[in-house]
Amino acid sequence: MTELEHKQDRAPVPAGWDYAPAPEARDIVQLEERYGLFVGGELVEPRSGEWFPTLSPATEEPLAQVALAGAEDVALAVDAAREALEGEWAKTTPSERAKYLYRIARILQERSREFAVLESLNGGKPIKESRDVDLPLAAAHFFYYAGWADKLEYAFPNRKPRPVGVCGQIIPWNFPLLMLAWKIAPALAAGNTVVLKPAETTPLTALLFCDVVRQAELPPGVVNIVTGDGSTGAHLVKHTGVDKIAFTGSTEVGKAIQRELAGTGKKLTLELGGKAANIVFDDAALDQAVEGIVNGIYFNQGHVCCAGSRLFVQESIYEPALAKLKRRMATLRVGDPLDKNTDVGAINSRMQLEKIQELVEAGKDEGAEIYQPPCRLPEKGYWFVPTVFTNVAQSYRIAQEEIFGPVLSVLTFRTPDEAVEKANNTPYGLSAGVWTEKGSRILSMASKLRAGVIWANTYNRFDPTSPFGGYKESGFGREGGLHGLGPYLRFDE
Ligand code: NDP
Repeated sequence: MTELEHKQDRAPVPAGWDYAPAPEARDIVQLEERYGLFVGGELVEPRSGEWFPTLSPATEEPLAQVALAGAEDVALAVDAAREALEGEWAKTTPSERAKYLYRIARILQERSREFAVLESLNGGKPIKESRDVDLPLAAAHFFYYAGWADKLEYAFPNRKPRPVGVCGQIIPWNFPLLMLAWKIAPALAAGNTVVLKPAETTPLTALLFCDVVRQAELPPGVVNIVTGDGSTGAHLVKHTGVDKIAFTGSTEVGKAIQRELAGTGKKLTLELGGKAANIVFDDAALDQAVEGIVNGIYFNQGHVCCAGSRLFVQESIYEPALAKLKRRMATLRVGDPLDKNTDVGAINSRMQLEKIQELVEAGKDEGAEIYQPPCRLPEKGYWFVPTVFTNVAQSYRIAQEEIFGPVLSVLTFRTPDEAVEKANNTPYGLSAGVWTEKGSRILSMASKLRAGVIWANTYNRFDPTSPFGGYKESGFGREGGLHGLGPYLRFDE
């Protein structure tokens, strides 16, 4: 008998809670039928003559046609960025640059509901996440880097910081607007101009951002946005007029970009995948840890590079931890991203859904035990039930490969050393979580875990002042904080 049913004997508490639908109105978003490329401050038709549809992954409904930029389009955007870099933007004083960034931050705040609805519509993430996480953080990044724009000489004393030049920025589909903010805010604060390529499946908030750029009266060409597919990204990487590439995405494409840029002298930062260990010791506050585990892997459908996808539980608390986790999973509401009660939204694309399904099948075939709470999924769209695997060996694909979906692999450990050894047994090194009541154990674990970001008694917390980035196959370079400015500057030394 569940705890809730047991209570029912004593008080008339219903055994299940049905939530009435609470849909966010979508009429705040005015979609165009089709969107061109944002080059030199204007939305222009693509020279390639090619367009592609962008969908809502929750309903498979086409939302708009978007331009597919070819080599010539990318070259025009790079030219516009170069012209702005050497023209009006070069004459703009650092304090004026700061004003533009503040202006963008404030406009994002003012229009945050519109952006949040569009983000959920095009990407499938729950509205409560786009509204309460993506949008506030995106605005915070612009506010934060606005503060640095006129203080670079103090941030890097005696090193004569100068902009790198034209920056090519390629971003993924899991946090479309937030990744745009992570890329554009530090680049502009440092005095660069940019050509940004959003992911193929989630171009719409980047295209709405063009409107913000115009509203803020940023000089034309400082920000250029070229939509398209992987080939558009490849054209941007290859273009000789680009001085720096900043990439967030898969390790595979990251490696290809690194090979392409070898010997060219172009600067490069890579923020790639992860397979983070979330480690729970037997002295941790268990209910709190379970919330952290759920947030670590089911936030944004697990489409998170730093997701806590490998859970390490100390053996002595394995059973109560699993029982609590399964009970909590049964309360997750999966469905319409625009419903304010939804915890887990749609998988971003059919391709990603197939990748998740393939890895889950591999987990079952290799011998892991699967648990999925009872859950009714919508008929149309791309969905995956929150999943947990137990009896997982370290060699299984589900313990080694990035699934990038709502799938958790649970492993156990007995001693802190064993936890460290198993946690570090991965080609990645982006993030980790430690749950314990002992501060000394947190510090000891943090010094031994090979991960760029380590959370203690919390998970998936982000702040623009705090650097983020990885080791090993998770990439190099940091975004956020003072560290995030360095890759956008050249120094006379
Ligand atoms: P990709 O690495 O392919 O996509 C990231 C960005 O790179 C997109 O804008 C993509 O364009 C672009 N791109 C693709 N090919 C090239 C290329 N040859 N040169 C330059 N740019 C390119 O990731 P996927 O979307 O294919 O996702 C695959 C897997 O990658 C996921 O399952 C997940 O494991 C991981 N991933 C990790 C992310 C992270 O934050 N670390 C984010 C996204 C994915 P387009 O979208 O148009 O193809």
